[in-house]
Amino acid sequence: MDKNFKEEFTQIIKFEPPLYKQRHQFVRDLVEKYKPKKVADLGCADCSLLWMLKFCSCIEVLAGLDICANVMKEKMHTLSPLPIDYLQPSERSLTVTLHHGSVAHKDPCMLGFDLVTCIELIEHLEESELKKFPEVVFGFMAPSIVVISTPNSEFNCLLPRVMLYRHPDHKFEWSQAEFQSWALETASCYDYSVEFTGVGHPPTGMEKVGFCTQIGVFFRKYPQTAESVQSEEPMEAVYKTVFKAVYPSLKDEKYLQNAVISEVIFTAQIIKHRLMSKREEYSDDPERKSKFQPSMDCFSDYLGKLVVEKNMEPFVSGNEVYIPLRTIFSFPKVNRLCGTFEKLCKLIAGKVTLSSDGSAVMFNIEHENEEN
Ligand code: SAH
Repeated sequence: MDKNFKEEFTQIIKFEPPLYKQRHQFVRDLVEKYKPKKVADLGCADCSLLWMLKFCSCIEVLAGLDICANVMKEKMHTLSPLPIDYLQPSERSLTVTLHHGSVAHKDPCMLGFDLVTCIELIEHLEESELKKFPEVVFGFMAPSIVVISTPNSEFNCLLPRVMLYRHPDHKFEWSQAEFQSWALETASCYDYSVEFTGVGHPPTGMEKVGFCTQIGVFFRKYPQTAESVQSEEPMEAVYKTVFKAVYPSLKDEKYLQNAVISEVIFTAQIIKHRLMSKREEYSDDPERKSKFQPSMDCFSDYLGKLVVEKNMEPFVSGNEVYIPLRTIFSFPKVNRLCGTFEKLCKLIAGKVTLSSDGSAVMFNIEHENEEN
C-alpha cells in the first residue's frame, strides 16, 4: 500500500462508538433477534458484556467464564441486584454466575445454553487451547448459536501504532481467509452453518480490507434433544464459581405474594377513595343526596353482606368500607399478577383484612371520618 495513503487513514480512523461497544451492541442485537434464554460469555473479562445483557428481558440465565479470576472480580459487583430490583421484582427470573476456568476444559455447568459468545477471545488462546476449543464449544456445549469475533489482521495496516498484533497477549491475528477457513471447517465438523460479518467499517475506497473486527455467527443445524443438555456420563466440575446472583423475581412465590398484597391494598385504597369522595359529593348536595339515599339503604350490615356476595360494587356499612375482591381482581395489574381469582385469594389469605366471608377487602373508616 502507498505509504502516504496509509498515513492519511491512520490519522483519521477512530471508531464511533468505540469498537468494543460496537461488538457488544452486535451481540445485543442478536439477543433481541433470537431471544435466547440462556447465554454464556466465554472470556468475559471485566463482565461488561454480561452487564449489558442483564437488561435483555428474554435472558433468564447468564454465565461468564474467564481464565483470569482477578479481571472478572474487578467489576463483578455490577452484576448484583440493585435495591430497585427488590422493590419492584421483575416478572422474569434471572441468575448470573461467573466461573473461573478455561475454554479448553469441559464443565457440566456450561451445558444447556442457547447462545455462547466468544468476543475477542480466540486470539488469546495458546495453540493447544485453540485445538480443544471447538470440541468444548461446538461439540460439548452445543448451543443453538455461537458468536465468535476476532481481529481482522488485514485491517491492521490502517491502525496507528499497531506493530505485530493489536494487543501484547494476542497469540495470532487472522486474515479474513484464515478466519473463514477455520470457521467453515469447525462448522462442518460439528454440523453448524456459519455467516460472516463484522463491525468497524473500512474507509471508502478500502472495502477490500474488510471489517476491523471479523465476526462469525454459527447456527446449529440439528435440533436439541433432552440428552444433549446433559452430559453422557456424570462429569466432574472443573470450573470454580466465583460469583452467583439470583435476582428477585415474581416467579418466586415470596416476591409474588408481596407484590400482590401491595397491589391489592393500593387498588382497594383507590376504589375506597373514589367511593368516599362520591359519598361526600352527594352529602354536600341535598338534592343529589336524596338520589343517593336508596343505595345508601343497603349499607346496613345484613344487606351489606348480600351486596358483597352478589355484587361487585364497593359499599360502606357502619364504619367499614368493603371492596369486593372480584372488583380488585378485575384491575389489569392484579389480574396479570395473579392469573386466577383463586390464586389471588390464596396469596392474600391472612395478610389483608377481609370481610367475614372473605370476599371483600375491609377498611375501617372511623378514624378517617373523625379527621374529616
Ligand atoms: N470478551 C471481552 C474481552 C476479551 S479479552 C470483551 O468483549 O471485551 C480476552 C479474555 O479472554 C481475557 O479476559 C482473558 O483472560 C480470557 N482468556 C484467555 N484465555 C482464556 C481461556 N483459555 N479460557 C477462558 N478465558 C480466557
